[in-house]
Amino acid sequence: MTSPSVRVPRDAVEVLRRVFGYESFRDGQQEIIDHVVGGGDALVLMPTGGGKSLCYQIPALVRPGTGVVISPLIALMQDQVDALLALGVRAGFLNSTQQADERRAVESAFLAGELDLLYLAPERLRVRATIELLDQGEIALFAIDEAHCVAQWGHDFRPDYLLLSELHQHWPQVPRVALTATATPATHQEITNRLGLGNARHFVADFDRPNIQYRIVPKNDPKAQLLELLRTEHPGDAGIVYCLSRASVEKIAEFLVSNGIAALPYHAGLEARTRAEHQARFLREDGLVMVATIAFGMGIDKPDVRFVAHLDLPKSVEGYYQETGRAGRDGLRSTAWLAYGLQDVVQQRRLIDASDGDATHRRRLNSHLDAMLALCETIECRRVGLLAYFGQQGSSACGNCDACLHPQQSWEATVPAQKLLSTVLRLHRERRQKFGAGHVVDILLGRRTPKVDQHGHDSLTVFGIGTELSEAEWRGVVRQLLAQGLLAVEGEHGTLVLTDASADVLRGQRTVSMRREPKRPAKATSSSAT
Ligand code: ADP
Ligand code: ZN
Repeated sequence: MTSPSVRVPRDAVEVLRRVFGYESFRDGQQEIIDHVVGGGDALVLMPTGGGKSLCYQIPALVRPGTGVVISPLIALMQDQVDALLALGVRAGFLNSTQQADERRAVESAFLAGELDLLYLAPERLRVRATIELLDQGEIALFAIDEAHCVAQWGHDFRPDYLLLSELHQHWPQVPRVALTATATPATHQEITNRLGLGNARHFVADFDRPNIQYRIVPKNDPKAQLLELLRTEHPGDAGIVYCLSRASVEKIAEFLVSNGIAALPYHAGLEARTRAEHQARFLREDGLVMVATIAFGMGIDKPDVRFVAHLDLPKSVEGYYQETGRAGRDGLRSTAWLAYGLQDVVQQRRLIDASDGDATHRRRLNSHLDAMLALCETIECRRVGLLAYFGQQGSSACGNCDACLHPQQSWEATVPAQKLLSTVLRLHRERRQKFGAGHVVDILLGRRTPKVDQHGHDSLTVFGIGTELSEAEWRGVVRQLLAQGLLAVEGEHGTLVLTDASADVLRGQRTVSMRREPKRPAKATSSSAT
């Protein structure tokens, strides 16, 4: 072999041991590394924590020149580079947070061939000077981290990622490795197309996380439910509690602290210094609970997170998988617990209605939410559903999730569905009125509330026709109708409106099946290995 490099080519296993101090490769790593070292392009789909970094770091060390890593995680670049420097790897980064002199130092190190890895924020590629800089050095490979950011269909789209399609035209000889933990077939396809990776070899890792127990429970009294989970199943354990808003993060963190649980808040509204300190404490100390918005977690590597609890519904299955995937990286038993209720559906739809972007964008967001709702409402094994979503069909029931441990029955809910839909229909047809779920349920239950009196709704023929179900059961019916697209919400107050599909139910042309709600929140026992 005639390598132009002055460096002696090193063996990948040797680099793994000498530089990173690990004994052996994990599943998939060696194949990917060999392929990229050999100059091939690769698309790597591997769950968070699977060990994607080594898949470009080792080839960058083995091949002559500098490995150029495109990453959107600017806030983490310093940490990543520091960690590499500590291992003796010559690394640097270029992003907008830097002083000019720091930048110049990194640039000259690159030009002198003294960098093994150079991390770049994608927007750097907009700058002509960056391209000129890269042209003057030797590039070992391009690694495109968080490659799903190129997918407009996805949940993390970054316009600057579209620039990455030009890398190949400009540097056709340089191998590219694109990596992501988001692997739905649609995203996969879009990454391939947009990055021109048609000739790349695809490496798809197993997305199964058998040590995580997935549980999705109806939200009754979320604070009490959370407290019970932490006290009975995870006392003293480290974990993450995800909330949708900054305000609820603050509120829940205070609530836990006042109940004797060591908890810290984390959201983008906190000062950078506070955030960094809370994150550092979470990583360093044992048994801290981080109450956070989804701003927390990207790139966090703490092996002993014993539970991830969601108090609000994630916007997509990708988000859910990524967030819950932060539990149990050490392979030990961990819990992914989500409490979800009618209000979540109303709120999420409302956020989508109010979001910027065109109708296509909103349709996309709605379809992400629909998939998440389907996972919540399924009576089948959660893990089977999750894996099927990521294109891994045909796995067998896990025996460990709430649906497996406490099989849920489905029930024939066509008549209640008709009663509810016809109440919405009558309010609209006969009174030109729209109301939220609370009032509609009051009508079904025949309650003489002030609002019922005010509107004379006791004279509707549907008044009091639904006494066979409790209020909680009716709310479950509304939620499941929303999840199945047989009912919709609109406006700021979440008023109920019919959909095209509602008509089929009302005419008796379509039956409705629902999952039976557990009376009490489903509690899976942690000693259920049998
Ligand atoms: P990802 O980027 O896929 O989320 P990382 O590359 O950050 O995952 O790796 C997750 C953790 O696993 C890191 O702590 C990393 O050092 C560790 N790791 C990766 N590969 C190996 C290996 N072959 N042996 C032991 N630990 C590994
Ligand atoms: Zn299961």
